[in-house]
Amino acid sequence: MGKIEEVCRNLYCLTWPLEGYGVSVSSTLIKFSHHVVIVDTFSAPHYLQPFVQLINELEVRDIWVVYTHSDWDHCLGTRALWDAGGGSPHINIVSHDLTRSYLKTHNADDIESIREVHPELVRNAEVLLPSITFRDGMVLHFDEPNSRFKDGTSLEIIHVGGHTKDSIACYIPNYRVLVAGDLVEDPIPMVGEPSEVIKWTEFLEFYASCTDLVIPSHGRPQGPEILKRNAMYLEELMNLPFISSDVETCDSGLLQPYLDTHKHNIEIVRRWKEY
Ligand SMILES: [Zn+2]
Repeated sequence: MGKIEEVCRNLYCLTWPLEGYGVSVSSTLIKFSHHVVIVDTFSAPHYLQPFVQLINELEVRDIWVVYTHSDWDHCLGTRALWDAGGGSPHINIVSHDLTRSYLKTHNADDIESIREVHPELVRNAEVLLPSITFRDGMVLHFDEPNSRFKDGTSLEIIHVGGHTKDSIACYIPNYRVLVAGDLVEDPIPMVGEPSEVIKWTEFLEFYASCTDLVIPSHGRPQGPEILKRNAMYLEELMNLPFISSDVETCDSGLLQPYLDTHKHNIEIVRRWKEY
C-alpha cells in the first residue's frame, strides 16, 4: 500500500513498493500557498491516487508536474491528476527537452515490455507529454503571501545527466531541500551515461554543502551525507583499473538489487573506457 509522509512542512512523499524490482519508488508533492508541484508520477495513475485525495483537501489553483527523467517508473501516472480538485486546477507538465522527445518516440515500447512481466505496474499507464521544456535548467517562482518567505519561493530545476542523458534534480533554496530523482540512491546510483559522471559528481559535491534534506526517487528521504557517499562511489568507479577480478572484489557489502547495479556500472564504465 502507498504511504504519504510529510517529510517537512508542506512537502510530502508518497512511496510504493516497485513490485518485482526489490526497491520502492516515490513521488514528491510540495505545496506553495495555492500552488502544488509534483515531482514524478509513478508508472501508472492508481499509484498517484493518494496525492489526488490530498490535493482535494488542499485549496489548489494550479498543479505543476515535473518529470525527473523519462524512465517508465517515473512519469506514466499523470492522468490521475485530471481528477484532482474537482478537475478544475490548471495543470502544467515540465521536463527536459530530451525527456519529451523520448516519451514521444520510445515510451510505448517500454510500457509493453513491462506489461508482459508486471502488468499491474503499468495498468492504464499513459504518456502525457510535457508542454514546457528546457535544456540547461529552469526556475519556477511561487508566491507564498502567508509564509515567512515574503519574496516567494523558487524551485530550481537543474539538468545533470549521468543516470540518463535527461536526468534532472529539483532544488528549493528556501527549504534547503533537493528532490534528486534517480541522481541519488542509497547505497549507490545507476550509471547510464559514463561521459557525464564527472559533471554528476560535481553536482553531488556542490549540493552537499547547501542541502539539509535529500529526497531520492528510490529510498528514504535523508540528510546530505548521501550526496557525499554517492559522489565518492562515482569517483571510485571511474578510477577502477578494471582488471577482471574487480567485480568480485568491489562487491563486498552490497545486497541485491544493488549488487546488480554495481556490476552494471562497472561494465558500462569499462566498455566506455575501452571505446
Ligand atoms: Zn527509477
